[in-house]
Amino acid sequence: MTESSQTALNRAGIQSSFDVNALRAQFPILKKRVRGNPFVYLDNAATTQKPQSVIDVLNQYYTDQNANIHRGIHYLSEQATEAYEDARSRISKFINVPSERQIIFVRGTTEGINLIAQTFGRQRVRSGDEILISTLEHHSNIVPWQLLAEAQGANIKVIPIDDRGVLDLDAYGKLLNDRTRIVALSHVSNAIGTVSPIAEMCREAHQRDIPVIVDGAQSAPHMKVDMQALDCDFFVFSGHKIFGPTGTGVLYGKDKWLRDMPPYEGGGGMIQSVTFEKTRFLEYPARFEAGTPHIAGSIGFAAALDFVEEIGMEKIAAYEHGILQYATEQFSQIDGLKILGTAPEKAAVLSFILDDVHPHDISTFLDQDGIAIRAGHHCAQPLMNRFGVAGTARASFSIYNTREEVDVLAASLRKIVRFFKR
Ligand code: PMP
Repeated sequence: MTESSQTALNRAGIQSSFDVNALRAQFPILKKRVRGNPFVYLDNAATTQKPQSVIDVLNQYYTDQNANIHRGIHYLSEQATEAYEDARSRISKFINVPSERQIIFVRGTTEGINLIAQTFGRQRVRSGDEILISTLEHHSNIVPWQLLAEAQGANIKVIPIDDRGVLDLDAYGKLLNDRTRIVALSHVSNAIGTVSPIAEMCREAHQRDIPVIVDGAQSAPHMKVDMQALDCDFFVFSGHKIFGPTGTGVLYGKDKWLRDMPPYEGGGGMIQSVTFEKTRFLEYPARFEAGTPHIAGSIGFAAALDFVEEIGMEKIAAYEHGILQYATEQFSQIDGLKILGTAPEKAAVLSFILDDVHPHDISTFLDQDGIAIRAGHHCAQPLMNRFGVAGTARASFSIYNTREEVDVLAASLRKIVRFFKR
């Protein structure tokens, strides 16, 4: 870490006991130059970059271990099965799950939520029932519930937010009623960073015996998530947003639900016996893992969590919070820039608009300086509508981002302001 960024950290009262430059050196892609500039990657909420340790594990798997799992009675198949099941076990420990069997491998958060909606949801939701979600949701925690509601004749209800982007908990309490069969909430908003009080919301839903499904796509990478402390009924997150490979993710569920849920997909690997008349299914997790899974990816996912644990989630959260604070201060000094989402509890996401400049233009201009951000509706159109905008520009931070990068971003934004003022 350079002296200036360490000083800034100290000023913010946050000591970084890891060396951010040493950490950056573990991410080969960060050495890239983009359009002649150092690469500034601020699109971490979309996907994070991968450390060498994860890349090595993938390489190693295909170089030395590749075989199909579970079914082969030969040396490599046994090795691959062991590595895959070991990954399941490490992931279960990472989120403090009572039994590793409660971890089901999926392709990502989207598939996990669809799985729950089409199995648990179909079992549970009937005509006239209500599914309660919030204004903050990503489309992947809206559309699967709409598909279910349409199929079952149920209704979607929505928890409102205030102008800071904080959930209205009074309204939540009032929306919970005898018809509510499922509550589905994002832990952290990808579009504006709000962290919602999930443990408290679970307690309230559970008083009425309503299960809570949590979209943890943006929380698991940035804060300690503990299934026993949150006490949610299901939790889903993606590997690629926490330094792991794309196409990986996990679904955690409570035993009392998983044991009676019907399969999502049918095929190999999930059956006990098949005849043309009747198929018997395996217990979970196998029941929900039809076909050949992303074996290497899941092993890489576990390696990514090892990487996180080596640094320590608390350290990551504190460091990212420091960056967020610093960027918020810098942004407040830019003419015409307005931040959307000012919740007191926020993850390291800064969504903003800039006077009359279209978010896509902001992104295109920043790209000329080698800066990657995201622009658009962030798969959260209802949330954008709530703020009366079609979209925003969004910088989202990770542990390898530095205050110097925030300075580069702020300088580039000032250039855009000057350009459009001419
Ligand atoms: N929920 C949230 C809050 C997200 O940020 C995302 C990814 N942008 C998803 C769900 C979907 O994740 P994936 O594309 O990995 O399935």
